[in-house]
Amino acid sequence: MNSKVYLDYASTTPIDPKVLRDMVPYLRKEFGNASSVHGYGQRALAAVDQARGRVAEFLNCRADEVFFTGSATEADNLAIFGTVKALGGPQKKPHIIISSIEHHAVLEPCRVLQKEGAEVTFLPVDKEGLVSVSNLKKALKDNTVLISIIYANNEVGTIQPIAEIGKVLKERKKKIYFHTDAVQAANYLNCDIEKLGVDMLTLSSHKIYGPKGVGALFVKKGTPIEPMIYGGGHERGLRSGTENVAGIVGLGAAIKEAGSPKTEVNIVKVRQLRDKLIKKIPKLIPDAELNGSLEKRLPNNVNFGFEGIEGEALLMALDQKGFAVSTGSACSSHNLESSHVLLALGIPEEKSHSSLRISLGKFNTDKEIDRFLKVLPQVVGRLREISGYKK
Ligand SMILES: *Cc1c(COP(=O)(O)O)cnc(C)c1O
Repeated sequence: MNSKVYLDYASTTPIDPKVLRDMVPYLRKEFGNASSVHGYGQRALAAVDQARGRVAEFLNCRADEVFFTGSATEADNLAIFGTVKALGGPQKKPHIIISSIEHHAVLEPCRVLQKEGAEVTFLPVDKEGLVSVSNLKKALKDNTVLISIIYANNEVGTIQPIAEIGKVLKERKKKIYFHTDAVQAANYLNCDIEKLGVDMLTLSSHKIYGPKGVGALFVKKGTPIEPMIYGGGHERGLRSGTENVAGIVGLGAAIKEAGSPKTEVNIVKVRQLRDKLIKKIPKLIPDAELNGSLEKRLPNNVNFGFEGIEGEALLMALDQKGFAVSTGSACSSHNLESSHVLLALGIPEEKSHSSLRISLGKFNTDKEIDRFLKVLPQVVGRLREISGYKK
C-alpha cells in the first residue's frame, strides 16, 4: 500500500494543523479531569465548555443542548435507543421511520428495536437517492414517534430535504421527534437546527478535520431521552464517562473552522474539483455511470460505477498507483455484501460491486485531480481487459 493522494475524505479527514495545535496542551500540561474541583479540573472544564459553546454556535442551539459522545455512531445510537426508551420502549410498539439509505449507525439500532417489537418503516428513495416528502407523509401513523433521515449520504452524497420534512412535522398536532445524521453535511451544508426543524442532530469530529473518537448529539430541550451509558452522570446525566477533553477541544476547534467564512472558499474549490471529475470521467472512460444526484449532491462526493470490474480490484490497483479511494462506505469494506445504499437506488446487485467513491476535501489540489484523471482510465482499461469486458 503506497497511497499518496488522499481521495477518501468521507471515510475520515486528516486533522487540521490548527485543530491539533489547540488540542496539544490538553494532552500535556492541562491533563485535568473536567469533573475535578481543583485548578486542573477547572481549566479542563473551561475548555470543554468553550468547545460546547462553539458547537452550539454552529448549530444555533443552546450550549446545554449539546452532548459530547465517543463517536457519531454512539450519538446516533443514543438518539434512536434513548428516545424510544424514554417513550416506553420497543414493547410499546412505537413506529419509527428512517430512510433506506441511513448510515449503519442508524440502521442497525432500528433493526434491533424492530426485533424487540417496534414497527420500523424503511422509506424508499428514488434512483438519485432522494426521499420523497409526500411518501414520508403517507408513511406517518398514529403511533409514529421518531423519524431519522440522514442529511447527506456518505456513499453517494445525496442531500435530503431536511428543512422541508421539519416543516411538515411542525405542522402536525401530535409531536413526532425528528433526528438527522449530519456527519457528512457539517462541512458543506447549513446546520442551523432552527432552519432544519430537527429535535436531534449528530456530528462527528473526524469527518470535519478533527480527531477520531469524538461525536456530539444535539438534543432539543424537552425531547424525551434516556441514557445508554450509566455511571458518574457526566454530560448532565445523558452520557457518563470522563470527558475526552483533548478530543472535545479538537471537535470545538474543527467546528469553529467549519463555521468560518474560509469554509465557503474551500467549498467552492472542492466543488470545482468534483465537477471536473464528474464531467471528465465519462468522457475518458466508456460505460462510466454516475451514482446519485447531479444537483442535490455534496460538493465533495463523486461515485461512479464502472461496469465489468470489481470496485475492490479497482481500489487496490489505484492504491498501487498512489491514490486512496473507497468502494462505498469504509464500514462495509470488510465484507463483500452489496451496499444497501446502491441497492436502494435501484442499482442491480451485480453492478453495485463495480462502484468507486472518490470523496474530496480541502487539502486536495487541481494537480492531484489531473493526475488521477490520467491514471484512472488506464487502470479501468487494464482491469476490463483482464475481465474480458465488452459492451
Ligand atoms: C462516519 C459516519 C458516521 C460514524 O461516525 P463515527 O464518529 O466514525 O462513529 C455516522 N454517520 C455518517 C453519515 C458517517 O459518515
